[in-house]
Formats: sequence, structure tokens, C-alpha cells
Amino acid sequence: MENAPRYRWQPTTAEIAERYGLRPSEVVRFDHNTSPFPTDWAPAIVAPMTRHLNEYPGASYLPLRGAIARYVGAEPENIVPGAGIDEMILLVARAFGGPGTRSSAAVPTYPLYEIAAVQAHGEFKPVSYETTLEYPYDGVSRAAETSDITWLCIPNNPTGERIGDEYIAEIVQRSRGIVVIDAAYAEFAGDRWWKWVEAYDNLIVLQTLSKAFGLAALRVGYSIASPDISSHLDAVRPPGSIATLSERIARVALEDHSRMERFVRFVSKERERFSGLLASAGFTVYPSATNFVLCHVGPEARDLARGLLAKGLVVRAYSHDHPLGDHLRFTVRSQREDDRLVGTIARIYPQLVRTDRS
Ligand code: PMP
Repeated sequence: MENAPRYRWQPTTAEIAERYGLRPSEVVRFDHNTSPFPTDWAPAIVAPMTRHLNEYPGASYLPLRGAIARYVGAEPENIVPGAGIDEMILLVARAFGGPGTRSSAAVPTYPLYEIAAVQAHGEFKPVSYETTLEYPYDGVSRAAETSDITWLCIPNNPTGERIGDEYIAEIVQRSRGIVVIDAAYAEFAGDRWWKWVEAYDNLIVLQTLSKAFGLAALRVGYSIASPDISSHLDAVRPPGSIATLSERIARVALEDHSRMERFVRFVSKERERFSGLLASAGFTVYPSATNFVLCHVGPEARDLARGLLAKGLVVRAYSHDHPLGDHLRFTVRSQREDDRLVGTIARIYPQLVRTDRS
């Protein structure tokens, strides 16, 4: 395990503030694909509960399973809740990806699939994008025929695109084993996966309250799958990884999802405005079905990211040997924060700003 790939955490807001002599409130996270809006509605829900933190959560999480099932249109036995999609990814690898198994995914994608496969002592086969942003349809289909787990990130992080339904159906049908759709950004893409889970008994869909619901701190995610697959995942689940307070807030958010829907509408408008601003800053902006946009910046990408970081604007950059080394990824945040980012880019990096905008 010494050379095994491992998850690299970004520095925290407090660490960045201290390093650059800023107040934590001046630091803005354009790297986490989270919501910019505070959760002022939540304290009233949990305040009375904070007097009773002496007992464990109800370990079956039945009320939460019920709320998730109603939200996605499924039955509670189709749902396994966990501490974010991250925990669900590790559980899938633990349940279905032990020694002697193979998993595969198109890369670049979310790095935890490979990490989870290796930690479970399975093999991981990456299938590289054809060019920077051309999805390797044939390679993924072929790999699925010999894989025990095929990971599909739909829409994909970090590229932001949503591959077509015909292609997804082909992969699921050709796959030898289980296909996992990481649908962390499903709501932004307008995706509802329950019908797919009903139609294919080798499919697991993972969703979260971290993105469109704007509740990343809660650490609540879940799988949607057949009762049989769900019982395998339940068997390897830790006894109580979702805190009682998280469970309660999650249920309230799922029962009334109008706030989430407003946020999704906001993101889809603001993403177009923000993309336009980034394009006029001289970047090539890729189409996105998510709350982030990937931009081709050029060889200066990492220098620009460092310059922005010193001003408290944290963006996602990639190492020089990564296929996206010349790119930056930006979360769509509030109009004010997005304007601050683009204004700062123009100030600290004027040579990037196009002079031929007329
Ligand atoms: N999957 C993808 C594709 C993601 O982008 C992220 C978060 N950045 C996660 C999973 C993790 O989600 P959660 O907060 O539910 O663990």
C-alpha cells in the first residue's frame, strides 16, 4: 500500500487565510463545487436536538431512507445512506471489488474510484480520454466487458460534460459486472435515475446532499440500487457514520426540495453569465451540466492559480503532468464572488485578457 494512490486534501480555508494574512471571510472556495449560500434555516431545526447528543443515531436510518426514497421515487429497500458519496464509493469497492477483481473508469475523473479499488486490493484500469475532452466511448465499453466494476461519473468531474443516454445504456448492457453512476451533480443536469435502476439490476447510482442541496458539511450521500445490491452494501456499512444532526437536516431538505430547485435554476443562469466572463478573460470555456466550469487557460494556469490563491481565491489547478495541466476549474458561486474572481484575474493577469474583444 506504500505506493498506493491516495486522496489529496486541499488546504483548509483557515490554513489559506493564515498563510496569506487574510481573514477567513476573505477566502472564497472556487475549488470545491459547493453552494455559496449559507444555511441560515438549519439552526432552528437542530437547536433543540443539541441538548440530546448523548445517544447514538438510530443505526438503521429508516426515516432517512424513507425520505430519500420519496425524493428519488424508489422504495426504502433500494436506498443505502452513507457519509457522502465518498463513503459510498469506498463501500462499493469493499463489497464488490476485492482481490482478483478489476474496475475501470474514463480518466480524468473523480480520483476516489481508483483509490477505493486499490485500497480494496483490486486492480484499476484507467481509460484515457481520446483528446483533452473527447470521451473514450469505445475504450470504456470494451473495458466494461471485462470489469467487475465500471465507474461512470455523470456529469463528469472535472470536465463537466454529460454523456448521452444511448451510450450509458450500451455500457450497462455490455458490462460484465456492476456499473456505478456517480451522479453527484445529477440535479444540475436534470437527471432522475430511478427508472434506470428499475430497468438494470447491475446498476448502482450514487447521489449526495453536498452539491445541489448545498449541504456539503452534513456528509450525507446515498446509493440507489436493487434490494439485493443494497443489502450487500448495507453489510459493509459502518454502524453509524451519519451524525444525528446531519440526518435530521438532510430529512428536512429532502422533504421540501424547493430551496434546492431554486439553487439549481440560479446555477444554470449564473453559469452562463460566468462562462461568458471567463471567455472574455481569454479562456476557452467548456460546456458544463454542473455547478462548475472547466477552462483551458494555457501554460500559465498554475501561476495564475497561485496568484489567485494569494488573494484568497481558491481555484482547482492540475499538476504539469496531468492531462488538464493547462486548465483551471472554477465553481459557479454568487454573482458578486464570480465578479470578484474575474476582476482579479484581469488585474493580476492582464496579459491573458483579450485585446480583440470588439
Ligand atoms: N463524486 C464526485 C464526482 C464529486 O465531485 C464529489 C465532490 N467533489 C464527490 C463524489 C464527493 O461527494 P460527497 O460530498 O457526497 O462525499
